[in-house]
Amino acid sequence: MSSQHSFDLWQHLAACRGPSQEIFFPPGRLERRSEKRSREQRAKEICRSCAVQQDCLSYALAIREQHGIWGGLTENERRDLLNRDDGRVATVTSVRR
Ligand code: SF4
Repeated sequence: MSSQHSFDLWQHLAACRGPSQEIFFPPGRLERRSEKRSREQRAKEICRSCAVQQDCLSYALAIREQHGIWGGLTENERRDLLNRDDGRVATVTSVRR
């Protein structure tokens, strides 16, 4: 199954669909650190209640998504996870923070 097809299967259950989606990505302007932290925390709260969090994270890791909050992790947190797991991301089954 391709990553795109997999994406199609779970994305319609995403808790971030709709107006709240904008908090998952940086705004198109300079964002202060406190604003970024607040925005990311609000996004992560939505992710915590999302039924497809694991699918979302696995997808973002598989395609090396470089922007935004996916699966409850920021781009930096996903990069750290990828570096720590040294390419074994397909076996990720849960994320606890
Ligand atoms: S885990 Fe978060 S970013 Fe992923 S689909 Fe769910 S709410 Fe959206």
